[in-house]
Amino acid sequence: MKTVAIIGAGAAGAPDVAVTVFEAGPRPMSKLAITGGGRCNLTNDFEGIRSLSDAYPRGERVMKRALKAFSNDDTIRWFTERGVPCTLQEDHCWFPCSQDAMDVVRCIQRAMDGAEIRLGTPVKEIAGQAGNDVNHSNDVNHGIDVTPDVIGGLKVNGEPFDYVVVTTGGMNRGASMFEGMDLEIVPPVPSLFTLNIPDKNLTTLMGLVAEASISIPGTSFKASGPLLITDWGISGPATLKLSSYAARYLAEHQYKAIVAINWLDRSENEVREMLQESASHSPQKQISNTPLLQQRLWEHIISKAGLRPDIRWAELGSKGLNRVTAILTQDTYPVSGKGKFKEEFVTAGGIGLSSIDLSTLESKKYPGLFFAGEVLDIDAITGGFNLQAAWSTAYVCAHSILKSFSYI
Ligand SMILES: Cc1cc2nc3c(=O)[nH]c(=O)nc-3n(C[C@H](O)[C@H](O)[C@H](O)COP(=O)(O)OP(=O)(O)OC[C@H]3O[C@@H](n4cnc5c(N)ncnc54)[C@H](O)[C@@H]3O)c2cc1C
Repeated sequence: MKTVAIIGAGAAGAPDVAVTVFEAGPRPMSKLAITGGGRCNLTNDFEGIRSLSDAYPRGERVMKRALKAFSNDDTIRWFTERGVPCTLQEDHCWFPCSQDAMDVVRCIQRAMDGAEIRLGTPVKEIAGQAGNDVNHSNDVNHGIDVTPDVIGGLKVNGEPFDYVVVTTGGMNRGASMFEGMDLEIVPPVPSLFTLNIPDKNLTTLMGLVAEASISIPGTSFKASGPLLITDWGISGPATLKLSSYAARYLAEHQYKAIVAINWLDRSENEVREMLQESASHSPQKQISNTPLLQQRLWEHIISKAGLRPDIRWAELGSKGLNRVTAILTQDTYPVSGKGKFKEEFVTAGGIGLSSIDLSTLESKKYPGLFFAGEVLDIDAITGGFNLQAAWSTAYVCAHSILKSFSYI
């Protein structure tokens, strides 16, 4: 009988395979239970994204392969066939029809039937000590068999297994488990966070949502979508997306940056034309009474452009028109830090993709050692893409293991 250790709650079962799941926490899938605000956004229809790298700023190449093996449609089919019908929202996000993440948790728990689940069992060490008797390792620093044609020699907390799948999630608690192993570890940084903007003129508009785009001038980082003004700065899908694209850049700059908001998400020329049209249509009307945006935000723009609130369109002139165009399309704010969540939504970084075979997700150095989910240097924007990465990569690992001893 082959033995498989899964580190981090998740499961794969097959005839003559003994699966042991090591879970540090007191319950399996406790994070899954709170995903999507307790509703679990389990995948996306991928219709709203132009290229895979828009959804996966890190790990696009692996995800291209993994999605071929287990796609978003496979996710929906898998859950539906196991008693969790799903529903697609207008924003391309899939949820269980019951809107209850616990239905997803319970479904996976049922699929884990037969596996030995060891709760409250943190894995501290994956390999045996250097120089122990494990397959006469030819690399004394690692203590793991690195002879390519021999599978085995893997140990989890000192217990031997034929295969080990590491699914320990984001590496914010450190990578001590991998100490002494020859694996590339991309330093973990948080992704998907809100931004602090210490500008009272902006934050007094809290609660307001605009269909905008945000960028970081001097870089190529840019994201569009609903932008929410909060009492500490900005949030909403556009901000979270920008934080994902610029996760490493912002970390390197200690979360101090300038962001530019394009309040209409349109080009300068288009916005100038819109303003000219309003000016020729209602020249005697006050600008503040003919808003191009929500009233309070429009008044903020007029004031930031240095114009009197009672100015009329006819009085604007080309200088005034240029000023309003500039603020509407390139309204800059200093960012003083990232929003303080108790836990970050996802971690960018982790096991570097150079350490693994992208088709099987097996370690290049240590036969039988696999990685799936957020522990890998793969992460996505919001919308169900992160869980899809977990489902797809877990499937690839399970498939690779079963294939290696010819069940499929
Ligand atoms: C609040 C919140 C809401 C989210 N909502 C969504 C959403 O709706 N849709 C979406 O796509 N993504 C969402 N995400 C992201 C998504 O939850 C993660 O990307 C996903 O859970 C990653 O799965 P994983 O199995 O790789 O890691 P995790 O789900 O983090 O599981 C890792 C497990 O490993 C265990 N573990 C860690 N170290 C050890 C160790 N040494 N020994 C034993 N066990 C260990 C942990 O206790 C944990 O149970 C959300 C994240 C958060 C924080």
